[in-house]
Amino acid sequence: MTTTVRNYVGGGWRAASGEEALSVANPATGEELGRVPLSTAADVDAAVQAAKVAFPTWRRTPAPDRARVLFRLRALLAEHHEELAVQLTREHGKILAETRGEVQRGIENVEHACGIPTLMMGETVEQIAGGIDSASWRQPLGVFGVVTPYNFPVMIPLWFWPYAVATGNTVVLKPSEQDPLTHQRIVELAEEAGLPPGVLNVVHGGREAVESICDHPDIVGVSFVGSSEVARAVYTRASASGKRVQTLGGAKNFLVVLPDADMDATLEACAGSIFGSTGQRCLAGSIVVGVGDAHGRIRERLLDRAASLRIGDGLEPATQMGPVISAAHRDRVRAFIDQGVADGAKLSLDGRGATVEGLEDGHWVGPTVFEDVTPEMSVGREEIFGPVAGINRADTVEDAIDMMRRSRYGNACSIFTTSGRAARDFRYEAGVSMIGVNLGVAAPMAFFPFGGSRESFFGDLKAAGRDGIRFFTDQRVVLSRWSGGSADPHHRPTS
Ligand code: NAD
Repeated sequence: MTTTVRNYVGGGWRAASGEEALSVANPATGEELGRVPLSTAADVDAAVQAAKVAFPTWRRTPAPDRARVLFRLRALLAEHHEELAVQLTREHGKILAETRGEVQRGIENVEHACGIPTLMMGETVEQIAGGIDSASWRQPLGVFGVVTPYNFPVMIPLWFWPYAVATGNTVVLKPSEQDPLTHQRIVELAEEAGLPPGVLNVVHGGREAVESICDHPDIVGVSFVGSSEVARAVYTRASASGKRVQTLGGAKNFLVVLPDADMDATLEACAGSIFGSTGQRCLAGSIVVGVGDAHGRIRERLLDRAASLRIGDGLEPATQMGPVISAAHRDRVRAFIDQGVADGAKLSLDGRGATVEGLEDGHWVGPTVFEDVTPEMSVGREEIFGPVAGINRADTVEDAIDMMRRSRYGNACSIFTTSGRAARDFRYEAGVSMIGVNLGVAAPMAFFPFGGSRESFFGDLKAAGRDGIRFFTDQRVVLSRWSGGSADPHHRPTS
């Protein structure tokens, strides 16, 4: 008998009021790990009220003291790094090397937020007119809602809530209902680090909880990451109620390979990008475009590599690719492959029938490779979010860029080349927000902004980096005149 996770409200763990709960299971084995409640609008309201009560005191807590709580959290996360990675592999399915990396990326966001006394600095100009000086202060705004997806359940909440609380706001977090357990442990560590009651609150659930966050009059802003359809809906709904909103959506990322690329290094980068995390990354490569004779060379290598990948339980050291998150998602990915075949793409490697001996209840999709994919086909157009690649050929790099620019998404892309000029032209023309040069996963570090363009992002300020600080603060600009000073035009020096 597994337990149902609790909401965290005002520093206490309490059961959600809703009756409904979903199962959280290990995607490799099917073993139930816990149950997650579907919280109601009343549960969200309770968390918002706790956050609202905590705000005035937290806001007045000196910035270095707020940072000290995060320094302690950083130390606790580092101490529990392996425990968190193992737990994450059990509930998400990705292999241990990947979950270790995810925890590390999460820690880096906490580290960045520890610099808040410097990051929050305003600007000053003296003598903007006779005897008048001007300065801006960055101030927190109140209660923020944070809604996150299943694919990085440790890191993505840490893209937001540490910055929100470091700047003096309070937060209501709604983690993914598919894998909320590891972040629940991180909330315990935040409590141990000394985060005061009500500063961070957690409400578990799905659509009702998210819509209540969008509508709640006491929430001033919403940060969201998930699929583009939901990102658009959350952006529209939360901004309609007057909130500031940033919503990061889905992706379809192109990897462009030029004939002068180092093909062995390019293969490693492309295979890691496409099949890493079983393709469940917003930065995952989806379509490889080989320009000219690069096509045949990368095609052959990628097909060999894909066919040799060992799938299985991510806790087994020999496993190179884990399961997808759920049976429903496995069926969705298989349906995309069926549709690709029906649309006329050439299926050169078929992962639909993948199984793992002894793990018959796992959600397996093997590496899959299509060729001759067009933008009209759903496999060429839609985000599949599984280990499915398309390999295309283009005559020129301009044709490759043209293929890429026809996508409705603009999250990430990469070029593989030894030519600085080609890389520079690609960066200039790509029209995509996160660009890799000889890297398959162009993931900005915590001190740069993370987010896409077109339907991959709705809003203006992106996650983390300086944008994150701007999103969670308002600039209060002060103009001051103190008459009688030496810069005052009416001032008459006495000597
Ligand atoms: P999702 O959109 O299904 O869910 C995201 C969050 O929204 C969850 O907390 C979920 O409970 C909630 N939600 C789901 N349906 C909703 C609805 N109808 N109304 C209101 N809330 C709803 O996404 P997912 O499957 O958890 O995550 C995968 C998606 O996230 C992919 O599309 C991926 O590209 C995207 N993603 C984007 C980035 C990025 O940086 N752009 C990063 C990670 C993941």
